[in-house]
Amino acid sequence: MRSELTRFPLVKALLKNRWPQLLVFIVMLAGFLFAILSGFIGTPVGSSNFGIVFVWIAWWAILILVAVPFFGRGWCAVCPIPLPGEWIQRGAILEPPSRKPRWLNLRWPNKLRNIWLQNLTFTLVALFSSVILTTPTVTAIVLAGMLFLAIGMSIVFERRTFCRYICPVGGFIGLYAQAAPLELRVKDKRVCATCKDKPCYNGSQVGYGCPWDVFPGGLTRNTYCGLCMECLRTCLYDNIVVNARPFAADLAKPSTRLDETFKAFIMLGAAMIYAGVLLGPWGALKLAAYSVGTTAWLGYAAAFLALIFGILPAFFTLAVKVGQRLSRASTPQHLFSKFATALVPLGLMFWVAFSLSFVLTNAAYILTALSDPFGWGWNLFGMAGIAWQPYLNALLVPLQTLVLVGGLLWTVRTAQKVGTEVRVSPIPVIVFCTLATLVMLGLLL
Ligand code: SF4
Ligand code: SF4
Ligand code: SF4
Repeated sequence: MRSELTRFPLVKALLKNRWPQLLVFIVMLAGFLFAILSGFIGTPVGSSNFGIVFVWIAWWAILILVAVPFFGRGWCAVCPIPLPGEWIQRGAILEPPSRKPRWLNLRWPNKLRNIWLQNLTFTLVALFSSVILTTPTVTAIVLAGMLFLAIGMSIVFERRTFCRYICPVGGFIGLYAQAAPLELRVKDKRVCATCKDKPCYNGSQVGYGCPWDVFPGGLTRNTYCGLCMECLRTCLYDNIVVNARPFAADLAKPSTRLDETFKAFIMLGAAMIYAGVLLGPWGALKLAAYSVGTTAWLGYAAAFLALIFGILPAFFTLAVKVGQRLSRASTPQHLFSKFATALVPLGLMFWVAFSLSFVLTNAAYILTALSDPFGWGWNLFGMAGIAWQPYLNALLVPLQTLVLVGGLLWTVRTAQKVGTEVRVSPIPVIVFCTLATLVMLGLLL
């Protein structure tokens, strides 16, 4: 059941108008540049530096606990990273200019039109995350690097190639956006079939062609729609709508792509490893993760890679094969990838449970960093002296248990639906997901 949100004139007007989006963009861009600045010139103590605290605690909390579960790619609709590049590429900030700038405008190579590079960039960030998350200058270098890479790619390639194929954050937002209760779709595909110039994809005088290289008329999943609202502005037939819908509606159409399947394994494994390293009691593991370049770190990195690219996929393959044996079914195509759809709600809830711990433990730093963003002894809002304390401590364990058990039930439902579609028993996959949830419960509680 879907409910069209754009039927309300105020919602539609707000989404179509470029000004409200631009105002949010400007605030976000200012915050982003300030985070980079504080990383370079502020205190090297991570917990007192605006860059670390606002990116890895405040932004992360909003992203994982609110934006992705409820709005899917909603963050990408206001993200500042691709903005300067996009403005340069378009030669305009708002409406299309009368004369387009002459950049190279190359097509992204066909062989790279997948998310393997995004899997790689996320894995690299995850491997070095203990340093990135705690060292302000490294955070600033990573953020500035993303900004300049996005600008460079906008000058060389058409549309938003950085977002679509490189951004380490964009890959997992796209994966979990499938679970969100919000979507942008066309009202009637038959109208698109007769639409001649397809301005939603090719652009027109009133708006730009889809920056994410998506043809809106063919949208069936949220994964690659950046919710930028350009197609809402350009469609000649008022055929674009934004709908509220049930959670996880996209998972009824399981992905058959191996790059997306491995994204699910990477995210699942990374959540477990982060829980062990950042919240677990193992000093040696923490030390290994933080000692980048040492033999201990190499061992940690090897274990990390083995878990996400070897152990988890191998046990999952075994579960799928046992399910096949139990059903005496022939081998339907893409069985492995289709069943891996069940890992989408599981992984999302792993990240929510982990982030609750991480964010509630460190939230006090947000207030102090607001008052003293560079750690220079300022006290702008009178909160610089607030002592560190964890928030909602008594609620944390029940909340995390609820999230993980709820995630497992959601996963079981998804696996059952896939099993019915492919006529293969989902029970071994459900056992795999249950064991993974028990491990995560053990790591968090
Ligand atoms: S894909 Fe990455 S850079 Fe692009 S809008 Fe989304 S989060 Fe920002
Ligand atoms: S402009 Fe509108 S009607 Fe035409 S193809 Fe795009 S979404 Fe469909
Ligand atoms: S133009 Fe439409 S389909 Fe393309 S990213 Fe923006 S909102 Fe999504």
